[in-house]
This record gives sequence, C-alpha cells and structure tokens, in this order.
Amino acid sequence: MSVRVVARIRPLLEKELNKDIIVRAGHAEPGKASTTVKIPSPKNDAEEFSFAFNAVYDQSTSQETLFASEVQPHLKSLFQGYDVTIFAYGVTGTGKTHTMRGGMKLADRGVIPRLLSGVFRRGKKIAKDTEDNTTVKVSLSYYEIYNDKVFDLLEPPEKRTPSGLPLRAEASGRTVVAGLSERACDDLRDFEKLYVEANNNRVTASTKLNAHSSRSHAVLRVKVTQISEDMIKESTVSAIDLAGSEDNRRTDNDKERLVESAAINKSLFVLSQCIDAISRGDKRIPYRESKMTRILSLGQNKGITVMILNLAPLRSYHLDTLSSLSVSSRAKRIEVREIENEVVFKQMPRSLSTNTVRRQPLRPLA
Ligand code: ADP
Ligand code: MG
Repeated sequence: MSVRVVARIRPLLEKELNKDIIVRAGHAEPGKASTTVKIPSPKNDAEEFSFAFNAVYDQSTSQETLFASEVQPHLKSLFQGYDVTIFAYGVTGTGKTHTMRGGMKLADRGVIPRLLSGVFRRGKKIAKDTEDNTTVKVSLSYYEIYNDKVFDLLEPPEKRTPSGLPLRAEASGRTVVAGLSERACDDLRDFEKLYVEANNNRVTASTKLNAHSSRSHAVLRVKVTQISEDMIKESTVSAIDLAGSEDNRRTDNDKERLVESAAINKSLFVLSQCIDAISRGDKRIPYRESKMTRILSLGQNKGITVMILNLAPLRSYHLDTLSSLSVSSRAKRIEVREIENEVVFKQMPRSLSTNTVRRQPLRPLA
C-alpha cells in the first residue's frame, strides 16, 4: 500500500483580502513542485517552521491541476484492481469541500465529479478496446460517519435509525457497512443526480448544515466492476471529506459538542496513525481503532491512499493550522534532503499549548 500526503493552500476569500498571511509554500526547484510549507512560530514571527510533504500546491493551483496531479494518475491502478482512497483533511474553512466537491461552474468542479467523469471515460474505453467483451459497471454508496455512527446518505433522512448502520466483517476480513445502499450509475448525469440528492439528504437531516458537515466524515465510495468472460474484477475508489480537524474543545463546550469532538478527535487521530504506520511499512496498522478506518480497511488492502491537507493562509487559523501540519506531516516520514544533504523535516512538538515549542534552526531558502 502506498501513501501520499500533499498540502493545498487556499487563496484568500474576498472578505479576507486585507488579512495577514502567514502560510506559504517553500521555494521549489525550477520545473518542480514545492514540497514544503512554511509557517512562523506562534511565539516569534521571526522563527519559521518547515513541514515537508510529497507535494505542496499554492493558492494559484486550479482544480484541474490538483486533479491531474494527484488523482488522475491513480485511475489506471483502480482499473487494474487496486483500491484508491482520497482524503481531504484540515481545519473547517480551509477548502476540504471545495477540493472534493467544488463549485457548480465547470472549472470549479472538484475531485469527485472529475473522478467520476474519469471513471466513466476509462470504463467506456476498456469496454470498447478489449476483445473479451468486458463490461464495466459503476455503482455508488455515500454515507457519513457522525459521532462514530454510520448514516446512509442515499436514503431519505426519515429512514435513518438513530443508532446508525452496523458494521459487519466479511469472510475476506474486510469490514462492510451492513444495509448500506448501493446505486448503479451509468453515466455522469446519473451520478450528478444521485450526488445532489444525497447532499440534500445531508442538509435536511440537519438544522445547522455547516456545523454538522464540519463534524462528520462524508464518504463517497465508487465501486468499479469489470466483468469479462473469465473473470470479475472489483475495486473501489473512496473520496472522503473529513470532519474539521480543529480542536472544538477550545471554543465550544456544551455537552453535545464535547461528545462530537471526542469522536472526531479519536477517528482523525487513528487515521493519522494508520497513515503513519503504512508509510513506515509497519505490519500492524491500528485501523481497527475507529469506525472510519475500519470501514476503509485502511492498510489492509493493496492500494493507494492520498491525503490532501487543506490549509488557509490566515493568521486567525495559526494554532489549528500548526496542529494539522504536525499531524499530517508526521503521517509521512520521508526525509527531504536539500543541497547539503540536510534533513529539512523536523517534527513539531505534539502539544502546542504547553509552552513546549522548541526553537528550530532556520534554514536558508534554496
Ligand atoms: P471546508 O470544507 O474545509 O470547511 P470549504 O471548502 O467550505 O472549507 O471552503 C471555505 C471557503 O473557501 C468556501 O467559500 C470555498 O468556496 C472557499 N475556497 C476554498 N478553497 C478554495 C480555492 N482553492 N479557491 C477558491 N475558493 C476556495
Ligand atoms: Mg466542508
């Protein structure tokens, strides 16, 4: 299983144009993408932290470029039978939904509609080009995990049971959601209809959409089945808009929020530990410790995982941004070497709230 962790810094919104920018992509070698994110220490603006990723996309990155660089290349593997998982991780307001779902205008469309369009295109091509009468079927499930409970988004909200859908272990060892619906989808128009409807289910099930969507993980799972004369090949691509990684306990302490926060923190923590273990090549992946990682069988299948860390460049997000950088760059222990073979990546202290921020050496920029 391979794992890639990339960062995407969003542009300023219109109402933010006079705000203070503190996050930027490090310099890149000519012709190459940047691989570092720079951010000052919360204690001292002159001190700068540097976090390394497989790639860093700055505010000028279009939806098309992000898709072409990070998702499109894996379509081939998907059709070869590998499972692909794309996560958007980050603080609420940093662009996770924009990255995954995107806007209505063609150029604004995010990873999910582009992915589906790529799947249908490739499926048609395979059906046309292969000589053994291969047919390709595409089906969808779409659900959210809220307070560690699974709710089907392809079903109307009235049909929800408060306790959510149970998980079941299959003989193969894979965990599935019992009773989750799956809809066949023949083309992009089919998909769009279902997807819009499902997102509306999410809205009507909740009185406060934004508060709700930032506290639940939304998982779209696309199953591709290739049937030829002598075999059936099945693989899935999951596109996930994760709950906000901010520490809700800081601002919100009513009981309901605390329960939500605990569930979110736990699942995001387990996720980062799984990605961490996978990228180290560990035998034991702690995927059983949260529902989200169990359902995805993260680390149990051969496949590809891409985690996109969304970042807002503003000072008002400083501490939450640092902690999301810390979690996601810890999830990827590659050593990035600069000219003098120096390791750039330095781990952030786990807790930023306890005065433990140590001085990190400043490095001349390449
Ligand atoms: P999240 O889902 O992480 O809470 P959103 O995707 O809702 O964040 O983004 C917050 C706001 O920023 C939205 O208004 C969104 O349209 C805008 N936004 C995010 N990323 C970009 C981007 N790359 N380009 C333009 N606008 C963006
Ligand atoms: Mg969102």
